[in-house]
Amino acid sequence: MSYQAPVDDILLALRTAGDAAGTAGEGTVRGLDDETLRAVLEEAGKFASEELAPLNKAGDRSPSRWVDGRVLTPPGWKAAYDAFRTAGWSALPCPEEFGGQELPETVAMAACEMWNSANLSFGLCPLLTQGAIDALRAGGSDELKQRYLPRMVSGEWTGTMNLTEPHAGSDLSVIKTRAERASDGTYRLFGTKIFITYGDHDLTDNIVHLVLARLPDAPEGTRGISLFLVPKRLVNADGSLGAENDAVCAGLEHKLGIHGSPTAVMKFGEKDGAIGYLIGEENRGLNTMFIMMNAARLAVGIQGVAVAERATQHAVSYARERLQGRSTTSKAPGMVPIAEHPDVRRTLLTMKALTRAARTICYATAAEIDKSHHAETEHERRTAADRAALLTPVAKAFATDIGCEVASMGVQVHGGMGFIEETGAAQFYRDARILPIYEGTNGIQAIDLVTRKLPLGGGQLIKDMIEEFETVARRAKTVNRQEIGRMGQRLASTVVAFAEATSWMVEAIEHTPNLALAGATPYLRLFGLAAGGHYLAKGALLGLEEGGPHAAESVAVARFFAENISVAAPGLSAIVTSGGHAVIGVTPETAPV
Ligand SMILES: Cc1cc2nc3c(=O)[nH]c(=O)nc-3n(C[C@H](O)[C@H](O)[C@H](O)COP(=O)(O)OP(=O)(O)OC[C@H]3O[C@@H](n4cnc5c(N)ncnc54)[C@H](O)[C@@H]3O)c2cc1C
Repeated sequence: MSYQAPVDDILLALRTAGDAAGTAGEGTVRGLDDETLRAVLEEAGKFASEELAPLNKAGDRSPSRWVDGRVLTPPGWKAAYDAFRTAGWSALPCPEEFGGQELPETVAMAACEMWNSANLSFGLCPLLTQGAIDALRAGGSDELKQRYLPRMVSGEWTGTMNLTEPHAGSDLSVIKTRAERASDGTYRLFGTKIFITYGDHDLTDNIVHLVLARLPDAPEGTRGISLFLVPKRLVNADGSLGAENDAVCAGLEHKLGIHGSPTAVMKFGEKDGAIGYLIGEENRGLNTMFIMMNAARLAVGIQGVAVAERATQHAVSYARERLQGRSTTSKAPGMVPIAEHPDVRRTLLTMKALTRAARTICYATAAEIDKSHHAETEHERRTAADRAALLTPVAKAFATDIGCEVASMGVQVHGGMGFIEETGAAQFYRDARILPIYEGTNGIQAIDLVTRKLPLGGGQLIKDMIEEFETVARRAKTVNRQEIGRMGQRLASTVVAFAEATSWMVEAIEHTPNLALAGATPYLRLFGLAAGGHYLAKGALLGLEEGGPHAAESVAVARFFAENISVAAPGLSAIVTSGGHAVIGVTPETAPV
């Protein structure tokens, strides 16, 4: 089945998120009236389904290849990329100053979802370029910005993120790539980076690598890491392309999924040293890189939503056509579509509800980012930035975990045909598997959540969020419709469990950090269930107030989530608050792990 952009679902999620970030009453998204917003999303969806989706399977079957030292992307990729950038899609959230359209983060994320649903391997290229643009904007000198940003914003050049080394993945404090100062104010880089997405390709004439490296006199650890811009080809003062830099791709990885996306081993300084330009200050590179990583983390969360949406559409379509078994509710002769069997229906609803819950969390995070740029007072902007920071690890990890789960359920709905490559369900499953790993593994996200994000604002931020969850659950309980009232009750129990686990976690991280860390991953899941249930319920209440064709569906999905998915909350809370002893009490002598 081809991809259908779920524009109405996305609009509802944006409206719920916009309200969450306090921008209601100004159109769904600040600065855009609803008609224009719908038009932008429909166009992006059209591009996704007509140009990108048809290449998805081809990219899987004919992966990017490394031939004679050059990387060739799959057939059709270059033409699609040219069409993508000619249509102006690479520049959505960038400032007008550099040729961008300055659209809000929420809109950029919605477009990002559709491109990644259509073709995850393709979508990664603009995703990383956007991250590189953000970092360069935040830390680059005016000269670097003027020279590189307009051509990255237009998509003429792409960007990469070069962090990982063979011995330094989650722990970047031990990177070894070396940077030496040159007499002309530039630097020479020497070292090897691995797993670099779109590290080389044939889509553009130039690639702008952002590379973490260490100066010879740098302090140990993360305080001694600097960030450099290292172009594949040097750029002359007049903007024309100069010589090849000493930065080459030394091979591509063979992977479980995302075969279309080239994952490169990069060698810097095999000859005289790769010429690099400092971004920001020496030894402060990780701070700037975190700007890029945070934006990219949310975008990877969106990739989780994207693959879940695609797998769900695929499974629903198959389940409506595949005939098997008799009806359990009527005596009608003949086989029925498997979608009619309660067990399959449960699976399909689980897929849909998890996808929508993750979408609302991601868009709520994006809405906070928008608010952190545009809110009127400094206090509002800072609070919004903190809320975005709090939600980002949840958006990344919850959405990518459910991306894998939903894609796996999609295979299951297809039965044996799901395991056979022809249906495409298997590709979604394989492609989804990278998402909980890159941009900081989901385990690292959970640690970030409990150690750095919960304490934000002296702990008041999470308290305020829990209060908001309680308010919506209370409102739902009082709605005079039976199914909403029950949903409100279930939601209220979820919030109670989340509040208990949060109080425990805040204490534990201070006094018994190992116990807290043992519970970090189940705590993040619990956060995702509470937040997902909250935003879905908000969307359902909004739909009820306004009526409209999709109100009944949003109520049904929110209700299903509250009654069948987030009811796991008390169990998760018990794991968080009392399961840790069974983890840290176990030694290698008592259990062989
Ligand atoms: C297809 C692909 C594309 C990628 N693209 C890029 C890219 O463009 N640029 C780039 O720089 N990198 C990229 N990466 C690298 C990716 O970000 C890393 O693989 C990831 O950060 C994990 O690092 P690692 O593989 O070294 O795993 P490790 O750090 O060895 O982790 C292994 C396991 O141990 C856990 N773990 C590690 N440390 C801790 C800890 N302190 N506490 C608790 N648990 C811990 C992890 O959660 C994980 O489950 C890519 C990787 C792949 C596979």
